[in-house]
Amino acid sequence: MDYLKGLNEPQFEAVTTLEGPLMVLAGAGSGKTRVLTMRIAHLITNGIDPFNILALTFTNKAAKEMKERIAKLVGDSNARSLWMGTFHSVFARILRIEGHYLGYPSNFTIYDTQDALNVLKKVIKDLGIDAEIYKAKKVMSRISQYKNNLITVNAYFNNPELMEADERANMKHMGEVYRKYVEACFKNGAMDFDDLLLKTNELLTRFPEVLAKYQDRFRYILVDEYQDTNHSQYLIVKALASKFENICVVGDDAQSIYSFRGANIYNILNFKKDYPDAVTVSLEQNYRSTQNIVDAANVVISKNLQQFKKNVFSENEVGEKIKIYRSLSDADEANFVSANIYELHNTQQRHFSDFAILYRTNSQTRAFEDALRKKNIPYKVYGGLSFYQRKEVKDLLAYLRILVNENDSEALSRIINYPARGIGETTQNKLVVFADSQNLSVSQVLDNLGFYAPQLGLNNGILTKLGDFWAMIKAFQVMLKTDNVYDVAMEVAKRSGLIKFLKEDATPEGISRVENIQELLNSMQGFIDEQIQIEDGDPSLSNFMENIALSADTQTDKDDDTNKVSLMTIHLSKGLEFPIVHLVGLEENLFPSFMSSATREDLEEERRLFYVALTRAEKQVFFSYAVSRFQWGKITDAEPSRFLSEIDSHYLEMINPVAELKFINRSGLDSSIFDETPSEPRFYKKKEEKKTLERNTNVPPPKKTLKPVATARIINPAGQSSQDIEVGDM
Ligand code: ATP
Ligand code: MG
Repeated sequence: MDYLKGLNEPQFEAVTTLEGPLMVLAGAGSGKTRVLTMRIAHLITNGIDPFNILALTFTNKAAKEMKERIAKLVGDSNARSLWMGTFHSVFARILRIEGHYLGYPSNFTIYDTQDALNVLKKVIKDLGIDAEIYKAKKVMSRISQYKNNLITVNAYFNNPELMEADERANMKHMGEVYRKYVEACFKNGAMDFDDLLLKTNELLTRFPEVLAKYQDRFRYILVDEYQDTNHSQYLIVKALASKFENICVVGDDAQSIYSFRGANIYNILNFKKDYPDAVTVSLEQNYRSTQNIVDAANVVISKNLQQFKKNVFSENEVGEKIKIYRSLSDADEANFVSANIYELHNTQQRHFSDFAILYRTNSQTRAFEDALRKKNIPYKVYGGLSFYQRKEVKDLLAYLRILVNENDSEALSRIINYPARGIGETTQNKLVVFADSQNLSVSQVLDNLGFYAPQLGLNNGILTKLGDFWAMIKAFQVMLKTDNVYDVAMEVAKRSGLIKFLKEDATPEGISRVENIQELLNSMQGFIDEQIQIEDGDPSLSNFMENIALSADTQTDKDDDTNKVSLMTIHLSKGLEFPIVHLVGLEENLFPSFMSSATREDLEEERRLFYVALTRAEKQVFFSYAVSRFQWGKITDAEPSRFLSEIDSHYLEMINPVAELKFINRSGLDSSIFDETPSEPRFYKKKEEKKTLERNTNVPPPKKTLKPVATARIINPAGQSSQDIEVGDM
């Protein structure tokens, strides 16, 4: 039992208290996950059959890592029989075995988001209700809220308040849609993601024998990141644990960052009420980070009213101050980050895998990917595709590919009916078959549509649609002769209906798709600027496309991910640690995001997110922000994030000139750091880089601000507060 030796006193208590309810509530990096892992090993060492242990983690990756560590402690065969995974994966497995109680086949299909949307669209169509009002994605997010709050169809129809709310939202058929959707999924023998939790709850509530079976099986239950469980997950754990009450949850209320998905911070706060005999252990020593990082993180999180006060300290080295880099633009910021990584890699023999770049929204990756590639620094984008592989980006690029090369049939088939314009699969097949038979490309047929029309066997309505589509493409091509690539791409994004289509989806994923389009447009502007500056520059669309084609190929998923810089959103970084962290885009309206400044609750969640980001770092943190960003074709002034001013200045160090920066200190804290006399910028050692900085400094960006136009409302799944989302004008 050597593993017990390395534990501090409260950790030892948590690991060795094997029976009864136990909660470890502790700050970041204090060893919660380590305790959970050791506790499982200790249970097994003490004769508990691994078969009787259930461990729930937040990601499958975390489960895999934990299993590997346990295998090292107690052997492979023991680790193999543990049930360990995310809520969704574990309960999908149980539903495969027990689903027949609810009338599901054991080989039920799990619908991904797209499958589910397709079913829903058909339901809406069959009901003959207005698809403009009942937009599938909007309806889906409402259904998801119901399900995560265990509001079944029957419960919905017994809840006048809900029905009235939907009626007020001009969606009085919502209940009917919900019913039909549930019926359709059931008929197809399918469950969507939310069903996996809802149906598990139903199974455990309606069939006491099933509940008893799993209560007896999972005598020891452990949950990591308990602060981010939603109501549905909470009830499952509660039901399973109610017989033996051997439940151990670990979490940190200061790291609850999923309330927009229905996570309920009160689950952790109410643990004592649910289990009055619970032993509560708090861990105070942070083993991950330097004192500077821990102290700075403590200061920030203390601004939140809603929290358990915790004393977190580090006995590691004091460490370096947090460096702040003020950049002139997003591209400048990305160049700084890649230059910094390059420098530390060379001068401090740092591995690339020691670095993480953390950002608030996915669309921010593009600039960093470009900058890293220029320096040949290997990287991996987590939790999503590399920027140029994302569907919406590929869709817009497909339009542009057609403008460059009409015969690109793959691109053509991608966009001919996207967004939907009534050119269905049958029509497309007819076109392709006919073109092949005549040894022509589809574009050649479209060029002479009138001539070939009699042979195509298409009705006039369809012919008109095809004609309109092709005329639109031709108009873009004409425009390309006189206008720059950015303007053309913007026109394509608008006139094709792509932007409008993407904007209909007000979910966080939908917003991020619109942001990605915006980023692609930004990259075109960057490309033009770059080409203008170089001799023999070629700002043409074909040159742009060539650059992308080459760069997109260098980043394949098949690469192994050892020794690469990690790029991920802060949400995804939860639970992870890296020696050196770059936290980027620290600007008002970006972080805290523009969605979140409206209410104190939302802002506090952003602050927790900031806390999570900061506490991922072991040795060094670099903050950066840009004073202007290119958004929707406009340079937008940006103001440093309020979170910067919430950290006392003695934890911080500015690493480049800030003479003209006006910093608004909202918290009234000491921010004299921002008034310091400018020092020589450390990271612009190379002559040409310094020159760029000077040139840029001489040309202040035009001052324009982003005009918010559309306001969408997201009601979070817990049905509590709502957030306003403003989407920039196009
Ligand atoms: P988070 O809140 O970010 O999930 P956590 O509380 O789960 O953090 P861990 O990831 O378990 O913290 O631990 C943080 C780091 O500290 C890990 O590298 C872990 O190995 C190390 N650590 C934890 N406890 C000790 C200890 N007693 N001695 C040495 N190292 C420790
Ligand atoms: Mg952890």
